[in-house]
Amino acid sequence: MTHKLCLLGATGSIGASTLAVLRQHPERFELTAVTAHSNVEQLLAICQEFVPQIAVMVDEHAARRLTAALANSSTTVLCGAEAVAEVAADASSDTVMAAIVGGAGLLPTFAAVNAGKRVLLANKEALVMSGQLFIDAAATSGAQILPVDSEHNAIFQCLPAAAQDQLGHCDLAAAGIHKILLTGSGGPFRELALTELAQQTPAAACAHPNWDMGQKISVDSATMMNKGLEYIEARWLFNCTAQQLDVVLHPQSVIHSMVSYVDGSVLAQMGQPDMRTPIAHCLSYPERVLSGVEPLDFLSIGNLSFAAADSTRYPCLDLAMKACWQGQWATTALNAANEVAVAAFLSEQIKFTSIATICSAVIERVQQASNVAKLNSIEAILSLDEQARAYARERIKQVETC
Ligand code: NAD
Ligand code: MG
Repeated sequence: MTHKLCLLGATGSIGASTLAVLRQHPERFELTAVTAHSNVEQLLAICQEFVPQIAVMVDEHAARRLTAALANSSTTVLCGAEAVAEVAADASSDTVMAAIVGGAGLLPTFAAVNAGKRVLLANKEALVMSGQLFIDAAATSGAQILPVDSEHNAIFQCLPAAAQDQLGHCDLAAAGIHKILLTGSGGPFRELALTELAQQTPAAACAHPNWDMGQKISVDSATMMNKGLEYIEARWLFNCTAQQLDVVLHPQSVIHSMVSYVDGSVLAQMGQPDMRTPIAHCLSYPERVLSGVEPLDFLSIGNLSFAAADSTRYPCLDLAMKACWQGQWATTALNAANEVAVAAFLSEQIKFTSIATICSAVIERVQQASNVAKLNSIEAILSLDEQARAYARERIKQVETC
């Protein structure tokens, strides 16, 4: 069967890895729709190569340029954020790769879920922002969620088939599972003196030792907010309690996560730190296809090591793990504050260490507000998201600049 794929975030890092897998299997996958924010040159090259039916650019000026460049092509160019959500849900595709970065991915990812698509989920922020609503929407529409994030994909691969079929609702204890062990490398500053953290530049934060990723997730990896968001993502995907979910530092990024069973067995998924592996797994699930990634060479790896994450070094991880059990308001607020703080760090407005202090201050401020109790609609989530972003921007004005 040929899958018809809509690729949200086609010009990003996950977008590029997805296209690399598609190129190897033109008979299995047809790229029917692509979306991007504003990179005309890159989306044009993708359209010329894959000739999708629809290409969406969020930015109006970029959309006009793309329309002109594709005047003689069969690809229809659409414009705006609403068109991204429409294309995620329309009949041009049966499968949607959700690879927009940040909260901007919430509405399109949700649209794909509500339309009952097979949703390959890279956009972890959407699940962090909407948790139970997301899981319930998938159950109602019959959408199949497949985790692209390498850790969640690893955990998924280590689950029994029955639990794989019940994503969001699986009973881990009934499946004989003791714990899920989420691994993380610790990022580029794992061994840096704590006194030097505040002086780290965006370039240093983005130089991840093992993974090549977009800027936002690279900074999130340096603060370990990424692991915190993944902790929240795992809680929803695998229906975990706090006792069933742990984080383990594993600097080599060979093991992508593990599932520990009650009989003492621990299943781990291993591989190169290359997103083409989980992407190929999700695209072809339950079959296996070539991804272009070489198998591991254990003799050259030598040693694997493990450690606990230090909360002095990684306050963002602590904040996220706590927020996970405080409630939806806390994870929505944290995600919003983090996006604003990371953008401010990347534009050199604030120090690396201020990301955590801003996130913490925003969570406290949101908690003091009276409207945090009920977040039972996407509109309520987006309203809290906006409020938390405003708080974060106010706080940024107050903190010391670099
Ligand atoms: P990226 O920055 O490289 O690409 C982001 C994509 O989103 C681009 O195509 C961009 O055009 C699009 N985009 C940005 N803002 C947008 C907006 N307002 N509206 C619509 N589209 C917009 O990001 P990435 O590293 O590919 O990450 C994408 C998602 O996948 C993130 O949620 C990230 O956490 C997740 N993820 C990435 C990796 C990785 O290795 N890069 C691994 C696991 C999970
Ligand atoms: Mg990950």
